[in-house]
Amino acid sequence: MAGKNKEVKRVYKVTNIEKNPYLFFMDPKEQLKIMNQINTSGLKILGIYHSHTDGSVYPSTRDIELAFYPKVSYLIVSLKDNLQIKSFKIKEGRFKEERIRII
Ligand SMILES: [Zn+2]
Repeated sequence: MAGKNKEVKRVYKVTNIEKNPYLFFMDPKEQLKIMNQINTSGLKILGIYHSHTDGSVYPSTRDIELAFYPKVSYLIVSLKDNLQIKSFKIKEGRFKEERIRII
């Protein structure tokens, strides 16, 4: 998710190259290409989203381990019982929920 002044302006899809349907790992080539597009468009990377199709709306241990961008928000969509969306900053092995507003 890319935007300006904390507001998402554009959402990009990246292929999940993880074979296990309960895990995700973004295609590194696509990810790099999109990061370059965002940088040249004058927007900033604000967040990275993924879904938990059958799980909690909170970051998994693996999500925390693979959170390489401490300034970026990690948005998780849970589809388990009913739709839930939460956003987190993940830094040094810990996560902190942050408020989001959907407009
Ligand atoms: Zn996850």
